[in-house]
Amino acid sequence: MSSGFNARYTLECPECQREFDPLTPQTYCAQCNSPLLTYFNLAALRGALQREEFSKRGRGLWRWHELLPVNDPHFQLTLGEGDTPLLSANRLGSVLGLPQLFIKDESLNPTGTFKARGMAVALAKALELGLREFVIPTAGNAGAALAFYADRAGCQAHIFMPADTPSLIQYEVRMAGADLQLVDGLISDAARLAAGEAARSGWFDLSTFKEPFRVEGKKIMGYEIAEAFAWELPDVILYPTGGGTGLVGMWKAFAEMETLGWIGAKRPRMISVQAAGCAPVVRAFHEGAERIQPWEGASTLAAGLRVPSLFADRLVLRCLRESHGNAVSVSEEAILSAQQELARLEGILAAPEGAATLAGLKKLMESGEINEQEKIVLFNTGTGLKYYQGNHGS
Ligand SMILES: *Cc1c(COP(=O)(O)O)cnc(C)c1O
Ligand SMILES: [Zn+2]
Repeated sequence: MSSGFNARYTLECPECQREFDPLTPQTYCAQCNSPLLTYFNLAALRGALQREEFSKRGRGLWRWHELLPVNDPHFQLTLGEGDTPLLSANRLGSVLGLPQLFIKDESLNPTGTFKARGMAVALAKALELGLREFVIPTAGNAGAALAFYADRAGCQAHIFMPADTPSLIQYEVRMAGADLQLVDGLISDAARLAAGEAARSGWFDLSTFKEPFRVEGKKIMGYEIAEAFAWELPDVILYPTGGGTGLVGMWKAFAEMETLGWIGAKRPRMISVQAAGCAPVVRAFHEGAERIQPWEGASTLAAGLRVPSLFADRLVLRCLRESHGNAVSVSEEAILSAQQELARLEGILAAPEGAATLAGLKKLMESGEINEQEKIVLFNTGTGLKYYQGNHGS
């Protein structure tokens, strides 16, 4: 087994193809300023792994462990993340004239968002590599997820988040007992402070794409979707984009599944939805740019979308273009009314980020870019409860 561990995967920079030692903690390729990606030895798994086998296992993200970087099952960290429902949105679909509309409801994850997936895997792998103290700059939800998974594992977390992050998200971090540092500014300002502290104190930085494994946790959404649709991917996926982890992760999962012989060449059009007040992906996509420039004056109530610059910009743009996808921005008013519509028609109290995908869908229907016969998946990435602004005694 032990030699098998080493051969399970390599870590590579997707820009310069340089390899990094997977047996020691790695961050990113400093030469290219690019994330590292995990390349599993799929040739060895092809034939040995039957897709039907996975459906028979117990629920949760770790049932895909052969395709995740953690080697020793002892380190698999869980609060019950993954295997969220893929709901058929019949009432909303009939209002919109879309008979094949689905919602992947990630609000059922621990800590109420899909950040749980990435954090479970990244933290588990970091612990397996012997790390014990962690730091993260966050727009909010990634910090809450890290705080609770760190408790679960009995290790230390330092969370740097904007002072105007929704107060219930701050409350979560305080309840978890993590070290909470509130920053005047945005996630980019938090990142600067966190990086300084990390360097001084030797904490491991779990920032989006600055380590290779959060994206591995998020890619499992792609496996779950393929399985739920009987190994035939949908036509369109709308994803609310901050750092782009889920887009890059699912796109990677689809490629892995094709190499494994589990799915064919058909891919969904991947559509990035952003808030008009912070839409760097949408701007770069429509300019035909290869890099994403930072957005000035980022502002939106959808905290998870208030990400002015993306470290994985090249990977996100490649995913959108290779999939013949699109990128669309939506107003705050459109987000709020989509949020009400999801609640009243489907019984889902969506996070504003998730509601943004419905607003984006409507925009693309108006411009004729989505047709009624297509199979469409909206991602509700979190629960709307975390964004409640009233008096909750915090
Ligand atoms: C972080 C977050 C997003 C954006 O996810 P990325 O993978 O970083 O693009 C969307 N919705 C919610 C609720 C989030 O917390
Ligand atoms: Zn490189």
